[in-house]
Parts: sequence; structure tokens; C-alpha cells
Amino acid sequence: MRENGTLSYLLADHLGSTSITANSSGAKVAELRYNAWGDTRYSWGTTPTTYRYTGQRRDSYINMYYMGARWYDQQLGRWISPDTIIPQLGNPQSLSRYSYALNDPVRYNDPTGHAAEGGATGDPYEGKWKPAWIVDLPSGNYDKGRHSKTGAEAEVEGIVMHKTAGIFEDSLDWLLHSSGKDAVSANYLVDTEGTIYQLVAPDDTAWHAGGRVRDSVWTPTSGDTHIGADVNAYSIGIEVVGATGKPYSPQQKAATEKLVAWLVCRYDIDPRDIVGHSDVSRDGKEDGREYITDLQVRAYWTRGQYPPVRGGATPY
Ligand SMILES: [Zn+2]
Repeated sequence: MRENGTLSYLLADHLGSTSITANSSGAKVAELRYNAWGDTRYSWGTTPTTYRYTGQRRDSYINMYYMGARWYDQQLGRWISPDTIIPQLGNPQSLSRYSYALNDPVRYNDPTGHAAEGGATGDPYEGKWKPAWIVDLPSGNYDKGRHSKTGAEAEVEGIVMHKTAGIFEDSLDWLLHSSGKDAVSANYLVDTEGTIYQLVAPDDTAWHAGGRVRDSVWTPTSGDTHIGADVNAYSIGIEVVGATGKPYSPQQKAATEKLVAWLVCRYDIDPRDIVGHSDVSRDGKEDGREYITDLQVRAYWTRGQYPPVRGGATPY
């Protein structure tokens, strides 16, 4: 944006909220952070716009946001007037006419004041955790839910990147139809044109780190040592189509970064827990390290954080 002859760039987070303001040479001049419901929790510098949380206009006099059809009170996390329409009869959350964004403001926004929308997280009414820009192509190779070998509940703590070392058709065949003790899969496959396929829902366990037998080892940044060889149960696996050593196509790289950024928000993943297959494999796999630094940097920006300087505690 340009105001009084001064050019600035506004950088937004996954819900479209104004987070960082940079000047014409790219230096940070202001920053805003919000709590889940949109109240400003951190402010530095002077942000040159009143369009802030989810890109909506905040009225500083009454300290509320005007979103399309009605006023929203970000300190209450509630609309101050009821919705004039019921956006979706089948969804009980939408019958609560003062509730904001299906009571899940980390995933959704509501630019019109009438219906929660997903921002970067896609259509909330779809019933599946899949944005519209991801193509469904289910593989039968997975375990329902996430459980460690001992049966304990597991949750996503990181992302393991892979490279297929084969062309798209072969890779897909293998991720969909491999069987027996060699059965493998991944949660996502990114082709050379940048199309993202969801083979296994991210809440289910794909067989990517050591396949079904789970023979990789990893300790995430949280220090959870219970993970051990249960990497599949605690991670999302992304396969990128391509030959070892050959760079991603520009579309493929952009799509992979977008996918990783979305997952980082969705599961609150520490950027340092984006790793390559070679980092966790016990049987000498050498794929997945390409672009790890780029993906981590993108993840930091998505979280409104600066990457640590090179030489610090992290690889960047
Ligand atoms: Zn791999």
C-alpha cells in the first residue's frame, strides 16, 4: 500500500490477518500479533492500516471489528448482534447465532458476518480437513487415527519430507497399491505441475517412514522421547515427485511450501520439526533433505516469527 508517498508492504498470516509491515526496502517497520479470537496481543511499531484481524477493519473508537454484516467483539469472541440468516441448517454450530467462525477461530474467519470461511484452511463445511486446493486420491495403505505401537494416542508433531525418485505414475501406483510387508503410502503427493494429492487424511497414519514396519527414529524439538520408532504415528509424510538431485519445478516448490505452511498452522508444528526422510531413517534412505531450510523459513514466516540466524540452535 502507498500512503502519503510512503510505500509499505503488508504481510498476512493464514487467515488474512495483517501481521508484519515492511518498508519499500523490505525491512520490518511494524508487527501485530493476535490471540485466537482476534484481540491484539502484541503490537510493535505503527501499522499503517485499520484492516487487521482476518483482514477486517477495526474501529479504534469502539474497539470492535466490522465484518460485512455485523460488528464483532474480539475481546468477547462473539458477535454483538445475532446473524440474520442461518448459514447451514445441518451444522449445529451455525444455529448459535452469536458464535464466531464455528467457535474455531484458529481455522476459520468470517468476512461476510454470515458464514465461517476457511482463509487458507479451506471450506469448513466440507467435513474433512482438506482445503479445496488439495485433490482427494485415497490410498488404502494407512492406519485409522494416530496411535503409537503401545496403543497410546499419538498426535502430529512434525513433517517428514520425501522424494519419490520416480515419475508420477510409478510413484502413485506404489503409494496406492503396494501391499504386504512392502506396503507404503504418504499423506500427500506433490506432482511436478504443483498439484497436491491427499492420499491419507492428515489425522490418519500413513506408512512413509520405514513403511508399515515403522523403523525410523526421531526426537522432535519438544523433546518427546516416547516417539522413538513410531515416526509414522507422530508425523505427516509428504512425497514430492522427482529424481534424486533434480530440483523441484517452480510450481512444485510453491505448492509444497503452501502445503507445509497450512499444516504448520493446522497442527501448530515447530518449524524445526520439518525434517527429511534421511534425518529419521534407520535404513540409509537419502531422500527428503532438499529445500528443508526453505520450508522451515516459510513456516517461521507463516507463524509470524523470524527464522533464527544461521549458526544458532537450528539448521537455518
Ligand atoms: Zn522417503
